[in-house]
Amino acid sequence: MSTMTANNVKKYNFSAGPAILPAEVIEEAAKAVANYQGTGLSLLEMSHRGKEFVAVLDEAVALVKELLNLSDDYEVVFLTGGASSQFFMVPLNMLDAGETACYVDTGAWSTKAIKEAKHYGEVKTLASSKDSNFNFIPKSIEIPSDAKYLHLTSNNTIYGTQYHDLPDTNVPIVCDMSSDIFSRPISIEKYGMIYAGAQKNMGPAGTTLAIIRKDMLGKVSRAIPTMLNYQTHIDKGSSFNTPPVYPIYVCMLTLRWLKAQGGVKAMQAHNEEKAALLYNEIDANPLFEGAAKKEDRSLMNVTFTMKDDSLTGEFLQLAEDAGCVGLKGHRSVGGFRASIYNAMTKEGIQVLVNLMQSFAKKHT
Ligand SMILES: *Cc1c(COP(=O)(O)O)cnc(C)c1O
Repeated sequence: MSTMTANNVKKYNFSAGPAILPAEVIEEAAKAVANYQGTGLSLLEMSHRGKEFVAVLDEAVALVKELLNLSDDYEVVFLTGGASSQFFMVPLNMLDAGETACYVDTGAWSTKAIKEAKHYGEVKTLASSKDSNFNFIPKSIEIPSDAKYLHLTSNNTIYGTQYHDLPDTNVPIVCDMSSDIFSRPISIEKYGMIYAGAQKNMGPAGTTLAIIRKDMLGKVSRAIPTMLNYQTHIDKGSSFNTPPVYPIYVCMLTLRWLKAQGGVKAMQAHNEEKAALLYNEIDANPLFEGAAKKEDRSLMNVTFTMKDDSLTGEFLQLAEDAGCVGLKGHRSVGGFRASIYNAMTKEGIQVLVNLMQSFAKKHT
C-alpha cells in the first residue's frame, strides 16, 4: 500500500463495490485528470472520437480479448446502465417470446435477473439456495437441452459463494461475472455471453463489460430499441453514443496492470493464497465462523460472522481504527464481508488476520 500524502494514509479497502483499485492505477488515473499525456487537456474534456480515446478503447478491448483468450467468435463492448441493465438486455436480445431460458437462483442478483427475463419469454428457475439464505451453490441440476441459454451468477457478492465448477451442459451459459471477472482463467467456449459491472474487480463504476458470442444475436423476432440492441454497440465499437470515457480509461489501466501481474492465471494463484490466509483464520479462530458452505466459498467476497453477535460492533470499530474499512456484512447476511478482489494485497489481509487474532486473545 502506498502512502498518498503525509496526512492521508491509504486505507485497506474491503468494500464490496465500488471497490479497491491497484494503487498504481489510481496514481496514473489521477494524472490523466490533470493533463492527459502532455496534451494539455484533461482526459475528462477530450472527445470520445479523438485519436487519444480511440486508442484507449482499442487497447481496452484488445486486453480483454488477450487476458481471457477470446476467439474471433466473441465481441467485446463497453456499455452503460450497470450489470443491472444486462438483466433485461440479455433476454430482450436473446430470448424470443415462447422460448425458454434457464436460471439458477443463487442470490439477490440472480433473483433480479430472473424477474426481468420473465418480461420476455419463458423462464425456468432450475434450482435455488434461497431456503438457506443463499449460503451454497446448487449442484447436479438437470438442464433442458433445448434451453436458449443458462444464466448463472458466477460469484455471489452478498453471500460469499462462488461457482468452482460449471454445470455440465452444451447449453450456452450467460454469466453475470460482475464480482469475479479476471480473477481466474475461464473456459470461454462454455459461454454464450459474459457481463460484468466494472466497479468490483475491473475499474470504477460507470461502465459494464459485455462479451458476446456472435451467434447469440440476431435470432429474436421482436423489435429492439437501438440503444438496447447489442448489435448497435458492436457495430459502432462501443461508441454509438458517448461512452463513459473516464471509467473505460481506468478499466484499461487496470487491465494493463493485470497483464503486468502475469494475467488471470497468476491472479488466480494470488487470489487463492489470499483467500486461504483469511479462511484459515476464520476456521481456526474461536470467535468467528464462515457464513458460506466451505466447498462453495468465494475467493472474492469472504463472509463471516461472530459467534457472539454482541461483539460484532466492537470488532468493526477495531478494524476501522486500524485502517480496515468496508468490512460490515450486507444486511441480509450480517457479520462481516471482506471483499478481497484482485487489487487487495496479501499485506492487507494479514493486517485483518492479525486483528482477528488479537481480538480473540482479548475475548477468550
Ligand atoms: C454489484 C452486482 C450487480 C449490480 O451491478 P450494477 O452495476 O450496480 O447494476 C450485479 N450482479 C452482481 C453479481 C453484482 O455483484
